[in-house]
Amino acid sequence: AISQGGDTRPRILVLANQKGGVGKTTTAINLGTALAAVGERVLIVDLDPQGNASTGLGIGRAERKVSAYDVLIGAALIEDAVVPTKVPGLDIVPSTMDLLGAELELASVPRRSHRLRDALARMPRAGKPRNGSEKEAALTARPYTYLLIDCPPSLNLLTINAMTAADAILVPLQCEFFALEGLSQLLRTVERVRTSLNPRLEIQGVVLTMFDQRNKLSDQVASDVRQHLGDKVYRTVIPRNVRISEAPSYGKPALVYDHRCAGSKAYMKLASELIQRERALRRPAA
Ligand code: ADP
Ligand code: MG
Repeated sequence: AISQGGDTRPRILVLANQKGGVGKTTTAINLGTALAAVGERVLIVDLDPQGNASTGLGIGRAERKVSAYDVLIGAALIEDAVVPTKVPGLDIVPSTMDLLGAELELASVPRRSHRLRDALARMPRAGKPRNGSEKEAALTARPYTYLLIDCPPSLNLLTINAMTAADAILVPLQCEFFALEGLSQLLRTVERVRTSLNPRLEIQGVVLTMFDQRNKLSDQVASDVRQHLGDKVYRTVIPRNVRISEAPSYGKPALVYDHRCAGSKAYMKLASELIQRERALRRPAA
C-alpha cells in the first residue's frame, strides 16, 4: 500500500486490453492469487459481464447477490459486495450479467465515468470508521494492498470506469502475430483518460502471455514487443500451459489447481517482479 500521511490505500491496477482472449482474466486470477500467497491483501473487481474471474474463482450464483453492478449504480457499498475466495487473502467483487445494461443505465447519470472511483474512495479506511458494521471492521483490520480490476474486452464505459479509478494499467499481450495491433488504440484511450478523467493513470507494464516455446513466431512477437515498448514489458513471460486453461473449470486458480505447473511458477515470478517494480516506484527520487 502507498502511505499517505499515515493512511494507506491500495495500489489500484487495471487489467485492460480491448482484445478478448489475451489473458486479462487469467492474469487477474493468478496474479491476484500469487500476490496473496506472498502476504499481500488483494481484492479483484470483476467488471466483465461474462464474469469469468468470478466463475474461475469458484464464486457461484448464490454468492453474487450483491455485485459490481450494484456498486456502479450506487445501490451498494463496496464492502457489501466483497466475497472472500478460497484463497486466503484474496477477495472478489463478483460480476453478474446485469453489467451488460450498465453502459445504458449510466449514460445519463452524473460522473458516469467516475462511478467506480467514487465507490472505491468511499471504501472504509483504517482509523476512519463509517458505520461501524462488521464488514467494515473486517476490511479495515487488514486493508487491501492491491486492487486488480478485470475488464471486458472492449473500451466501453466499464473499462473507462476502471481506468478512471486506477493508478496504473497492466496490459496482457498475447504472443501472436497481431499482438501489437490494437495496442495503439488502447494507448490512445489511456491518453484520453489521462487528459480528461484521471491524470495519474500510468502504464504499469505489459505482460506477454501464452508464449509458446516451440513456436518461432512467439519469440519474434516477444522481441518485437520489447523493441516497441522497452522496459515497460515484464521480463517474466507467461507460457502457454494446459493446466492454466483447465483450472477455471474447477473454479480454482491455476496456482491452487496445480501450483507446480510452468504457468503457476510464471505467475509467482510475475508477482515478485511486480512487487519489485512497485517498490522501485515508491523509492523517493535521489
Ligand atoms: P481475456 O480475459 O483477455 O478474455 P482469458 O484470461 O479469459 O482472456 O484467456 C482466454 C483463454 O485462454 C481462456 O480459456 C484461458 O483459460 C486461456 N489461457 C489464458 N492464459 C493461458 C495460458 N498461459 N496457457 C493456456 N491457456 C491460457
Ligand atoms: Mg476476461
